[in-house]
Amino acid sequence: MTEPVVVIGAGPVGLAAAAHLAERGLEFLVLESGPSVAAAIDEWRHVKLFSPWRYDIDGAARRLLEQTDWIEPDLDVLPTGGDLIDFYLAPLAKAPQLGDRIRYGAQVAAVTRVGFDRVRTAGRAEAPFLVRLADGEEVLASAVIDAAGTWRRPNVLGGSGIPARGEADVTDAISAALPDVLVRDRERFAGRRTAVVGAGHSAATTLLELGELAAQEPGTEVFWVVRGADQARTYGGGAGDELPARGALGMRLQKLVQSGHVELVSSFRIEAVARTADGRVELAAGDRTVVVDTVVNSTGFRPDHDMVGELRLDLDPILGSTRALAPLIDPNQHSCGTVPPHGVDELEHPEPGYYAVGAKSYGRAPTFLLATGYEQARSVVAALAGDWEAARDVQLNLPETGVCSSNLAYGDSTDEAAGGCCGPAPQAVEAPAGRGLATGISGGLLTVVEARPTTQSSCCG
Ligand SMILES: Cc1cc2nc3c(=O)[nH]c(=O)nc-3n(C[C@H](O)[C@H](O)[C@H](O)COP(=O)(O)OP(=O)(O)OC[C@H]3O[C@@H](n4cnc5c(N)ncnc54)[C@H](O)[C@@H]3O)c2cc1C
Repeated sequence: MTEPVVVIGAGPVGLAAAAHLAERGLEFLVLESGPSVAAAIDEWRHVKLFSPWRYDIDGAARRLLEQTDWIEPDLDVLPTGGDLIDFYLAPLAKAPQLGDRIRYGAQVAAVTRVGFDRVRTAGRAEAPFLVRLADGEEVLASAVIDAAGTWRRPNVLGGSGIPARGEADVTDAISAALPDVLVRDRERFAGRRTAVVGAGHSAATTLLELGELAAQEPGTEVFWVVRGADQARTYGGGAGDELPARGALGMRLQKLVQSGHVELVSSFRIEAVARTADGRVELAAGDRTVVVDTVVNSTGFRPDHDMVGELRLDLDPILGSTRALAPLIDPNQHSCGTVPPHGVDELEHPEPGYYAVGAKSYGRAPTFLLATGYEQARSVVAALAGDWEAARDVQLNLPETGVCSSNLAYGDSTDEAAGGCCGPAPQAVEAPAGRGLATGISGGLLTVVEARPTTQSSCCG
């Protein structure tokens, strides 16, 4: 091969792929749109993962790091997103085998094959990939490992899957999921009216934080806007929940709603969003409206298949993963802990040499775990190196106790996709002093935010 393997994204899974490529002596180039490593995680660096370090470090990455002065973190500790960057991904990106092969500020805009649109077949597999960056530069590649994640493609506020009317006109009033309500983004929410849209753990987390803010800052008003009529799934199983941390989160949210500090607006399928005369934002569903200063979009994420639209993809019509992977990760059937091992065979598309790995590989399924992505990366790179025995020897050691099946995630009524969860241990983890509000992501992961006074966490939703 003359052209390098191009890895899109320097998140944890893209860097794991890079580490495996380096180990196997394959030429590669990592293209990261952000200014530094793991730019997506950097946006939620205040959030604590529910997976302790032992599940967060890729094997090849560890071997590269062990050749440097890297100090391995305590494997039983739960890192924050920031810790993951500072104590693992940033040092990894500086390892001599990787450092000069990662380009930052390199946003991939489109991928195709040189001289081939999607229709032309003869000789296709021999043609190199053409990767075009947003600035117009083009890079040739022998294969493409797409580890771009889904963070930059949030679902829309519109209750029917397409943007609500007017949604594009009020983007400045819409916050991404998991704002740092109590610290970094405090000014945006203190003494103001906020609507949190969504029924997953990310919504629950933000609502709990806003509830805390409301107790500290007079004039802070909080609305929880959901499509469904019954919040039982968000509240979870309470004390009887198989995951106590999840149950505790739901119970706390239920109490907050019952106390009146959060106003629940249910059966509200957002149809239109508009700016009011006094500069606020009005959410409308039929003749009902909610008027706020800021809307937090906690509705989950979807993959960007547009940039690879000229490639031949075989996507599951529901999840947007490969068709082979879909039944293995279907959130109606699987929690993160029950996803079977899978690798290159489940990830291949009709387009030879293109693989989506990491969070993007799961499409809209909210059950992705780093450990899964690392095994995907290992298997795909082994296949690219021609080592099919290793590529097909897929193994996945997820935490045995990470069983938590359907609950939360996107669903806010029983007719919607159930969201699995995932997590290392179904017991509350005592957080260090000064930390500890249970939180999570709408795509499914219960976590803990730093600098809060209490305890907790594991699993997702
Ligand atoms: C709040 C939160 C908590 C989580 N907690 C856990 C946990 O405890 N345990 C666990 O196992 N998993 C957890 N996850 C799930 C998952 O592990 C993370 O989402 C993880 O970041 C996914 O890694 P990734 O490398 O696939 O994607 P990302 O981390 O999203 O990385 C993708 C990278 O690609 C870059 N990129 C995107 N588009 C382009 C482009 N067009 N061109 C170039 N670069 C691009 C981005 O800037 C980013 O750096 C959590 C997720 C979230 C959101």
